[in-house]
Amino acid sequence: MEEQRLQENRQLREQLDRLLSEARRNEQTQSTFDEFSLAVVAAQGPKELFHLLLEEQKKFRIDEIRLCLVDRYHEVERLLTESYRKKYKGLSFIDTETSDLMISDIPDFPILGTRILTKYDWLLDFNDAKKYKSAALLPLKRGDEIIGIQLLLSTDAERYNKNFATTFLQRISAMIAISIENCINQQRTLELGYQDGLTNAYNRRYFDERLKHEIDRCVRNKTDLVCLFIDVDFFKQINDRHGHQIGDAVLIRLVALMREQVRSSDIVTRYGGEEFAIILPDTGIQLAHEVAERIRSEVDNQKLIIDDNTLSITVSIGLASLSQIKFQNDKNNSEKPSKEPENLGVQLLKKADEALYQAKETGRNQVVIKRMAG
Ligand code: GH3
Ligand code: MG
Ligand code: MG
Repeated sequence: MEEQRLQENRQLREQLDRLLSEARRNEQTQSTFDEFSLAVVAAQGPKELFHLLLEEQKKFRIDEIRLCLVDRYHEVERLLTESYRKKYKGLSFIDTETSDLMISDIPDFPILGTRILTKYDWLLDFNDAKKYKSAALLPLKRGDEIIGIQLLLSTDAERYNKNFATTFLQRISAMIAISIENCINQQRTLELGYQDGLTNAYNRRYFDERLKHEIDRCVRNKTDLVCLFIDVDFFKQINDRHGHQIGDAVLIRLVALMREQVRSSDIVTRYGGEEFAIILPDTGIQLAHEVAERIRSEVDNQKLIIDDNTLSITVSIGLASLSQIKFQNDKNNSEKPSKEPENLGVQLLKKADEALYQAKETGRNQVVIKRMAG
């Protein structure tokens, strides 16, 4: 009797250990997956996005990945691949004229199994059907519209079978579809002439549009917004000493450096020549000051080495916040303070520009917040 009880206890303990280690493994997978999802959503541009989807994603025990996007107006392929002039292995496009049948063949929900390999052989290369033993086919949908399909291939026949949780796959495909659509929209924006040709930063036209929009949003959400004005110190001397081309390279480096110091939701723009403006939405003046100081000191501390020239660059930064402007307006014009995003934007720029001027006047290589007059 006693012997039997002990054995039962042992079995129970073993079972519990197995469950615990499985739970730990699941937790680990979940956190790796969360990290991956965040990276996909935050991907900057098609190159990064496709690398994540077609390469990085393989770490979830996937042997090969195919992505096929629907290209109704012969636009998507150009938008996503032209700027890099690169073919991504595993990425293809189908258009409605030549592939109408294929598009109507795409299922509305994920399907798993071995039969996919023969039924959707148009997604596969010549030898794939022999090499892979099971697959998951995930439609990528925005609303009711199918924008593409993702095919996950495995050499293990048991990898994708009926017991696999398809709700999980549905969640991944929804997230991927959103990211692809965002990426397409982003590329459209660039094409509309909102990008500076030299540095790839947004240009002044985009800055003006976006500032209005962000001010409007921050006023509605009752959050603050800060604008940074950044001007390279003695840039003319850099050009004079090292030539215009080195000067250009410095501007490109500076944009990369600024982007590293801000969130992906902040808007880095080349306002003109060697002047940059950054919009920090949903940010207070104190945090913005820290960001500005980080940019200033990073530029100051990094010796830029370009074509064997070691350059010491510094920048001056002026900043102003939306709440400062609103405060000033309320004070000066208590009857009818301006609430128009456009007016607030003009005032904000003026204030940031004054702060920058002060930074220049009082020694350069510094960050200045203009205190409110009276
Ligand atoms: P300060 O510290 O007062 O800002 O001095 P600065 O020399 O930077 O200011 P200034 O406005 O006199 O000169 C700006 C220089 O930036 C002059 C112009 O030739 C140069 N510049 C403007 N756009 C470009 C560009 O696209 N490429 C290069 N290489 N130089 C540029
Ligand atoms: Mg200037
Ligand atoms: Mg300058």
